Amino acid sequence: MQIVAITGASSGIGEATARLLADRGDAVVLGARRTERLDELAADVRSRGGRAITCTTDVTRPDDLERLVARAVHEFGRLDVLVANAGIARLGPMSDLDADGWSAMIDVNLRGVLNGIAAALPVFRHQGRGHLVTTVSTSGLKIVPTQAVYAGTKNAVRTLLEGLRQESTDGVLRTTSVSPGYVRTELTGDPAGMPGFAIAPEAVARAIAFAIDQPHDVEIGEITIRPTAQG
Ligand code: NDP
Repeated sequence: MQIVAITGASSGIGEATARLLADRGDAVVLGARRTERLDELAADVRSRGGRAITCTTDVTRPDDLERLVARAVHEFGRLDVLVANAGIARLGPMSDLDADGWSAMIDVNLRGVLNGIAAALPVFRHQGRGHLVTTVSTSGLKIVPTQAVYAGTKNAVRTLLEGLRQESTDGVLRTTSVSPGYVRTELTGDPAGMPGFAIAPEAVARAIAFAIDQPHDVEIGEITIRPTAQG
């Protein structure tokens, strides 16, 4: 049984991960901005005999991440895993010059993960162990039109985690970057924008669970999980 805090838990991959982990006995601490959705999810988890608490979290705010981590420690005594999953995609050609969208993606996808690291790392070090999981993307592995800035934020996070890994060879911290391809979620805000072959968020949840489940001396560093039909 592990204590797992998840950002972006109000929908999609974060929600599916929370449900899967809670169903098998982990305690989940749910963070996102849409409090009602988190409360509904937590109530649902508890009605199935699971353990879930919520903490309204905007990952662009360092204090919110501090509170999320503190909630886990206060309620359950420790934090084993932070799944830094919150993300947004403002897709479009760079020639659109959507500077606001670019900034928003940098704030949520990159700064949001840094804020999570800043909040969780001292706790992990104090405990002598911890696991940082983050959701990057295949968009950073195959660069395609309209996803340049989004992919840039995801690859920046990929780089962060590898750097953090290199600095953490004392065995305290595990890091995992999960790179999903197309997943059927609310990410693009338009279900029609998602190809028909997109996979269910539960598939990514299973990959995250696999990484978490390894013994602490085994680190699953990177997982790529995409629809079989994705190019
Ligand atoms: P969803 O839009 O369904 O979920 C995104 C989650 O992020 C929501 O829970 C949302 O909650 C949360 N979020 C957004 N902004 C913030 C913020 N400022 N603070 C806190 N939470 C925030 O999409 P997905 O489940 O698909 O996305 C999850 C992750 O997976 C993202 O990082 C995404 O980039 C990545 N990904 C998704 C792919 C896909 O095809 N769907 C492919 C590859 C990677 P709320 O609005 O309530 O705050």
